[in-house]
Amino acid sequence: MKSWIGDIPNTHVRDFQRKKVYDAEDKCIFWEKPDKLPIYSFRGKISQIADWAKVPVPTILEDGHEYAYATPTQIVLPYPITKTMPFICHEMAHVINYNTKNADHHGKHFATVYLAIVKKFIGKDAYEELVSNFRAKNVQYLTHDNIDDIMRLSNKTVTK
Ligand SMILES: [Zn+2]
Repeated sequence: MKSWIGDIPNTHVRDFQRKKVYDAEDKCIFWEKPDKLPIYSFRGKISQIADWAKVPVPTILEDGHEYAYATPTQIVLPYPITKTMPFICHEMAHVINYNTKNADHHGKHFATVYLAIVKKFIGKDAYEELVSNFRAKNVQYLTHDNIDDIMRLSNKTVTK
């Protein structure tokens, strides 16, 4: 039995590719030693990403939690290492995905949002590195990178 932290939707949807996503991240250079963002920039990036996907800006929690995680309305980034772009992109992909009908944890809709955020907010090299490691680890994702298309799709088909 999986225990979920926080109030997240679709807990009946199995989190089948969580380990594959983590394994792919482990192979990415951009995940290795991320630069810590200055505090104004850290909060600003989260707002920018939320605005870009047209979801409400989540409440940012920095204390009192053991793990980085996200819900539809909260992003929890407890340590200096989590106040960096790779963590912000991963957790904001959860926030955005949890604001759609196809909330699928680390599933293909999540992975698609995550790739689009990395491309837009970190850059093309990091994006290409993540795509190739997703392929190497057989992570499923959709071949869309326009956020409006992704959101439309994520609100249409429902993952079984
Ligand atoms: Zn995650």
